[in-house]
Amino acid sequence: MLQSIIDRSRRIVFFGGAGVSTASGIPDFRSAEGLYSREYEGLTPEMILSKSFFYLHPEAFFAFYRKYMVHPEAKPNAAHRYLFELEKRDKLRGIVTQNIDGLHKAAGNRRVYEIHGSVHENHCLDCNAFFPLDAIMQADGIPRCRHCGGVIKPSVVLYGEGLDKYVTIGACREISSADTLIVAGTSLSVEPAASFLDYFNGKNLVVINKEPTPADSKASLVMRGDVADILGKLK
Ligand code: NAD
Ligand code: ZN
Repeated sequence: MLQSIIDRSRRIVFFGGAGVSTASGIPDFRSAEGLYSREYEGLTPEMILSKSFFYLHPEAFFAFYRKYMVHPEAKPNAAHRYLFELEKRDKLRGIVTQNIDGLHKAAGNRRVYEIHGSVHENHCLDCNAFFPLDAIMQADGIPRCRHCGGVIKPSVVLYGEGLDKYVTIGACREISSADTLIVAGTSLSVEPAASFLDYFNGKNLVVINKEPTPADSKASLVMRGDVADILGKLK
């Protein structure tokens, strides 16, 4: 069924979340074994990964961020690899991802909209100099700019921060011109990302997720299972 939708589609867009990367060993937020099931000295991950916490307690922010949010050893899984194949065949118009792990780009995809940013992009808050992930991982405590001494901030969207305007426009444009939208590995509980789906007016809305999602009732096909397993079996 999914195979025949893909065979018939010419402009597929993939909209994904943390569940796309769990098979690569990166925990999601809301599954039973996800990060939200734990508490960190009375704080939730949502509190720690917020704009206000970053500015008030940068040291604690970076300790949590390095330990739980960055997985330099993670490799693309069968889902990422299949999407690269689809892009090479010119069927996949773009990937809109909420993930910050950079694994779609690592798999080779070029048309990737990282709407929540990427751990691989970091900037000095004072002079705006760019830094790779190493600058965050190798620093002791708060990472500092080697040019001006300013704090280096990961260019990931924290709770309380807005999305990049150009990335948002590009992502919504791709979704609005897709004939098939595959939504996978996301609880669709983070806004405004989840409402990007409203721009879709193509033929096939496919949802692949381990748990029910708010998009299921609108979908032409709902598949309850592991996204890496399901995509990895397709041609
Ligand atoms: P979420 O944790 O809220 O939801 C993940 C969903 O994926 C759940 O419904 C779960 O049942 C499902 N799922 C988990 N593993 C799956 C699998 N193998 N196959 C199919 N479904 C699977 O994640 P979200 O909706 O992406 O929202 C969380 C936010 O946290 C995002 O904005 C993202 O930026 C961030 N985040 C990113 C990463 C990452 O970069 N890999 C990891 C954790 C959180
Ligand atoms: Zn600087």
